[in-house]
Amino acid sequence: MELKIETKHKSEMIELTDMVHEAVIKKGIKSGIVTVFVPHTTASIILFENIDPQLRRDFLEALGRIAPANLSYHHQGENAAAHIKSALCGARVVVPMENAKLQLGEWQGIFLCEFDGPRTRRVIIQVVNG
Ligand code: ZN
Repeated sequence: MELKIETKHKSEMIELTDMVHEAVIKKGIKSGIVTVFVPHTTASIILFENIDPQLRRDFLEALGRIAPANLSYHHQGENAAAHIKSALCGARVVVPMENAKLQLGEWQGIFLCEFDGPRTRRVIIQVVNG
């Protein structure tokens, strides 16, 4: 299964929890191990708190302090900071599914992190039934 996500900003977080759940349910799968993966080097998939949007701003700003966009980097492109953020955050999460429900914690959501947008991002979802 694959999602296509159009990001709108240079840097943003987009919650995918409902889209992932729907995609898995549509396949008739009720339990298993769900992997959500992004095949890009300037975006990430993470689990993050999904109630307070301000916390997403805090997170993106914290990453900006680790890899500021305005430093000089060895990378030929303009997007070294985005590559670094993507590597730190990772390309995938794994979530157990039981009784047709993703077994996420009360405050957990699945997020696509865009670090070099706007772009069209592919998100690959796979399930190992069990
Ligand atoms: Zn690059």
